[in-house]
Amino acid sequence: NKQILFRDYISGSPKETDMILTTTGTIKLEVPEGSNSVLLKNLYLSCDPYMRGRMTQSDSYVAAFTPGKPITGYAVSEVLDSGNPNIKKGDYVWGFAGWEQYSLIENPQSLTKINYTDVPLSYYTGILGMTGMTAYVGFNKLASPKKGESVYVSAASGAVGQVVGQFAKMMGCYVVGSAGSQDKVDLLKNKFGFDDAFNYKEEPDLTATLKRYFPKGIDIYFENVGGKMLDAVLPNMSVHGRIPVCGMISQYNLEHKDGVHNLVHLIMKRVRMEGFNVSDHYHLYPEFMEVMKQYFMDEKLVYVEDVVEGLESAPAALIGLFTGQNIGKQVVRISHD
Ligand code: NDP
Repeated sequence: NKQILFRDYISGSPKETDMILTTTGTIKLEVPEGSNSVLLKNLYLSCDPYMRGRMTQSDSYVAAFTPGKPITGYAVSEVLDSGNPNIKKGDYVWGFAGWEQYSLIENPQSLTKINYTDVPLSYYTGILGMTGMTAYVGFNKLASPKKGESVYVSAASGAVGQVVGQFAKMMGCYVVGSAGSQDKVDLLKNKFGFDDAFNYKEEPDLTATLKRYFPKGIDIYFENVGGKMLDAVLPNMSVHGRIPVCGMISQYNLEHKDGVHNLVHLIMKRVRMEGFNVSDHYHLYPEFMEVMKQYFMDEKLVYVEDVVEGLESAPAALIGLFTGQNIGKQVVRISHD
């Protein structure tokens, strides 16, 4: 069984060497007699920014990784054997698994069976899994969007952002996204249907840039980035604007987080800023799947993934999230379905 082990807790930016590829001996490809466990052959691994928090002992809402043990995260897997009455051999599932070829899952209630297979299975690492749910909850539920409103999305070409932008367009909003390269800006405008987009790295005065794109103010800012981006957004918010706080990726590797200076605009503009965690909302998953299936059937959604091959590519793919190497949702294919 090939595995990627977590070396030790870190500070600062994660490096490839914080994760170690090892090969352990042969494993028995069946679950122990009488157990409730499920044996998975992992097909796709998801790389997600929150995994950086798990490399530090203190401050993550998900338990930290254990040094010397495999990295864990969202995956799409085939069931090779099962002692669980709800999951059968041959099923495909998504949920938490190890960064390894085969995982024995002792608490399979965290696994979700994949029933809708008219899309690639890898979609369950993202748009039909955790990041799609994040976009759905954060935008459709928490942001209270209305037709005709102005929406700004940061990290807009990524796993969450590209879906938020499309939801906002379906809602009849005016949507602008930012991303870190011209290729990504082109994707936003030409593939995902954003009304406009810009490369934030080429804008020396982000506050002025946002004023140009939103002369009447931003009704909804879908926050993925934090720091200087948030500071530039705050003075540009409309009265009664909403800021669902999904993530602040610019802050995850910093020991001393950036100071945000413009929070007073929350008062002046009566803005509602609300953090959320997708894991509090999984009861909405069946509703979400019904909505998403219909969108896919009606060809209303497009999706871009950045798929790299092989377990050995996973560490570089994960750290690449923090330099913007990924174009679209970062996935690692470790076996063919
Ligand atoms: P992405 O697919 O968007 O990948 C991360 C992207 O962030 C990079 O490609 C890069 O794009 C951008 N980025 C990296 N570093 C910086 C920086 N310093 N400043 C600005 N942009 C940066 O990731 P996801 O869509 O999976 O996640 C987006 C956000 O949503 C993250 O903050 C994540 O933590 C959060 N999240 C929150 C959840 C919740 O439950 N609250 C659940 C899932 C995700 P670029 O080239 O454009 O800079």
